[in-house]
Amino acid sequence: MTGTEELSASLSGEVLAQPGFQPFNPAFPVRPAALVAPTDIHDVVTAVSWAAKNGMPVQVMATGHGLNGPVDGGVLITTEQLGGVTVDPDRRTATFGAGVRWGQVIEAAAPHGLAPVNGSSSGVGAVGYTLGGGTGPLSRAYGFSADHVVRARLVDGNGAVHEVDDGGDRELFWALRGGKGNFGVVTELEIELMPVATLYGGAVYFPGAAAHDVLHAFAAWSAALPEEVSTTSVALLRLPPLPELPEPLRGQFVVALRFAYLGGADAGAELLAPMRSVATPLIDAVQEIPYAAVDSIHQDPTDPIPFWDNGTGLRDLPATAVDALLEVAGPGHDIPVPMVEVRLLGGAMARPATIPNAVSGRDTAYALTTVGILAPDTAEVVPGLVDGIVAAAAPWRSRFDLFNLIGRATPERVAGLWDEQDRARLLAVKRRLDPAGLFGGGHAIT
Ligand SMILES: Cc1cc2nc3c(=O)[nH]c(=O)nc-3n(C[C@H](O)[C@H](O)[C@H](O)COP(=O)(O)OP(=O)(O)OC[C@H]3O[C@@H](n4cnc5c(N)ncnc54)[C@H](O)[C@@H]3O)c2cc1C
Repeated sequence: MTGTEELSASLSGEVLAQPGFQPFNPAFPVRPAALVAPTDIHDVVTAVSWAAKNGMPVQVMATGHGLNGPVDGGVLITTEQLGGVTVDPDRRTATFGAGVRWGQVIEAAAPHGLAPVNGSSSGVGAVGYTLGGGTGPLSRAYGFSADHVVRARLVDGNGAVHEVDDGGDRELFWALRGGKGNFGVVTELEIELMPVATLYGGAVYFPGAAAHDVLHAFAAWSAALPEEVSTTSVALLRLPPLPELPEPLRGQFVVALRFAYLGGADAGAELLAPMRSVATPLIDAVQEIPYAAVDSIHQDPTDPIPFWDNGTGLRDLPATAVDALLEVAGPGHDIPVPMVEVRLLGGAMARPATIPNAVSGRDTAYALTTVGILAPDTAEVVPGLVDGIVAAAAPWRSRFDLFNLIGRATPERVAGLWDEQDRARLLAVKRRLDPAGLFGGGHAIT
């Protein structure tokens, strides 16, 4: 038997030629030596042990939203068959497998008037997102997604299974919540749910010509908002001419003001009023919505799209920072960069989690995220454009970035997410759980 035949014979799941889904970011080649689709934790142990025996790195993919470089060689574990969500309404928790996307958790929690602290897009994988911290539509009110992890089940680099919670290996529980996939494969996660059934939220779209006024008004207005504004951001959008987009947005350069408020429609409308009057909106779609419609705030793309992203934390958003962004990405720039977003953070995210964790960028006031499309005719220029927009904000960079939002991870950027003390703590856990350095791929802490 060849190596992979031997592996295949030991699994309940399969060794696949390709994942059963297209990775959300298909820009990069995925050519592992073995692509394993486990159906249970024993398969994960088998795959990790086989990789360790053959001296191969292990990468994990749930959806490919975080794929930002090629996968060449090694073992790629796709968690697509590790599904299942259960909600315990009395304890207000959800337990789910590694292949579950946020949409499935939202759907399971909604009938109980509960919601997870998910991200802007319900298509993102709930485990990968949470391990990287996770800042989403509820986060200013409730903190990072990782702050709400109750328990994780993990297979480490020695093939050992850990139940990780506050009562056991506390260093691992600290590191896992924020240190991403550096310590092993998480097969199951239990998280707290929030008592949120509805919110006042959505987006107001302004013409691109109003970008200067909207961004400057946002910078002044957002600095003084209460935490019940659980998210707000402003995004410069260069939208494609797709028939499914409403006519005023189709193929246009527009500015989207995203907003979510947990204190009811009347108070929410009062808070939003100063922004609504900055310019005449093309579309105003902020309204009372069931939590299950939370994707309508950001309206992120749902189909796979080849992209290059980059992002950074900002410690402040003065008028000079707004001008610097408009200078490189505002009206008059015909660039293949469909999104430049500045999201307000702070609120509950700025406070330590009840049980401290390794989430990076807690002191960040705003997150800047930039996404460019790697089409055949733009691929050469897009990385430079996207990285250039982030570089324009360098004078206002916060001390630490958010792990989930750095885009293309390099060893230097990952190492710079924490101070020396926290990085040393993370490395100590990594050396213990992953002595051969199998895990992390481009996100490896070094
Ligand atoms: C459209 C879009 C919207 C987004 N919105 C937000 C947002 O609002 N807030 C935010 O914080 N981030 C956001 N992100 C970033 C996103 O959180 C990260 O890309 C995240 O890593 C995606 O996780 P995934 O599992 O879906 O992706 P994948 O590419 O499948 O996995 C990414 C990485 O997560 C780790 N991982 C995944 N599953 C496991 C596992 N079972 N065990 C161990 N490690 C694992 C691995 O390191 C893997 O390389 C967004 C990204 C996109 C493309």
